[in-house]
Amino acid sequence: MISLEDARKLICSHVAPLPGELANLAQAGGRVLAAAILSDGAYPSGDRSTMDGYVIGGNELPGKFSVIGEVAAGATPDKSLEKGQAMRIFTGALIPKGGGRVIMQEDVERAGDEISISSFSGNRFIRTKGSEAQTGEILLPVGTRLGAAEIAILAQVGAVRPSLIRQPRVRHLATGDELVAPTQTPTLGQIRDTNSSLLAALLSEMGNPNLESTRVADDPATLASLAEGDWDVLLISGGASVGDYDFGAESLRRLGFEIHFSKVNLRPGKPLTFATRGHQIAFVIPGNPVSHFVCFHVAIRLAFERLCGLPEAWDFLTLEIAGGEEVKPDPRETFWPSRVTIQNGKLVISPKRWSTSGDTFSLAGTNALARVNAESPSNGSVQSLLLHPL
Ligand code: AMP
Ligand code: MG
Repeated sequence: MISLEDARKLICSHVAPLPGELANLAQAGGRVLAAAILSDGAYPSGDRSTMDGYVIGGNELPGKFSVIGEVAAGATPDKSLEKGQAMRIFTGALIPKGGGRVIMQEDVERAGDEISISSFSGNRFIRTKGSEAQTGEILLPVGTRLGAAEIAILAQVGAVRPSLIRQPRVRHLATGDELVAPTQTPTLGQIRDTNSSLLAALLSEMGNPNLESTRVADDPATLASLAEGDWDVLLISGGASVGDYDFGAESLRRLGFEIHFSKVNLRPGKPLTFATRGHQIAFVIPGNPVSHFVCFHVAIRLAFERLCGLPEAWDFLTLEIAGGEEVKPDPRETFWPSRVTIQNGKLVISPKRWSTSGDTFSLAGTNALARVNAESPSNGSVQSLLLHPL
């Protein structure tokens, strides 16, 4: 049996980032940059107004000005401003030559072609050329995951065919003679296959919808034949332990995989297996859904982070346990599905006490894992892994 820390080191040393490929901006959400995004010009490209109002010269003082024209957004100013002159201007429009300050229209009185300005503040209401980015500046480095904010940046600089890390192709096999589809009504001895839906949801939360899932009976030959293929990651649910029907690791050996570990000091999820064959990686995950959930977040997710060139999301916050409960240090490294909330302006964690790792219902509302190990302090606080890292 190895520690979770050593298991994570082995995963890191055996998983390398996938290559990049050109993709469409519309399909880039949730994916990771394989090449940096550079600014294609100066932003803004010229001095622009941030307000609707009137533009006057930079050295002008409050007083009366004659209005000589107007600049709308998208237009190129056709006149320059002389002393005592102003132009009507709108948000986003280019500042005409000679213009140095925009006065909000609320602060201006207009009579015919003349305006009076009684006072103005220090704010010039101008975004100056290049103040947000210069040509060639790195806006987003390699390894950035593209959320809504980053997608906006790509659109702004016209990066419509970004180079993105190829999405891992994932093959999932849910093993077990007892499994039926969630659409079916199980007989007394059967159960619905929860893990296929769970894994699909976990992967889509990581921005990876590239999953092919099949239910397989407990038969090593069928399992091995379905496991063969051109995928990057093979996930076998169930059959992880040492029972008569646990064929996971055996099937991987048949397929020429090298097993790097098959027992981790981890609760739930001890019989987690990790193996590789060339660039392909495989996990056999103990079948209970809570074990699946925990194994995914503490080990399998790391493999996806490595494949996608993302930094490891493995930072723990020390949080107070809601209700002042204490945890006892435990040599078996345990991860309690938990919920982190804000109480009186502070983050607190409420571990969910599961009765068995088959108790899927105890997962409801989980957004964190509370880690209890031999070093855990007995002071009402616990190391907490947020599942949606900051
Ligand atoms: P195993 O790892 O195959 O020994 O399975 C451990 C427990 O998890 C058994 O009670 C299985 O019935 C259950 N289990 C296995 N696969 C699934 C699945 N896909 N969905 C829900 N429960 C499962
Ligand atoms: Mg089984």
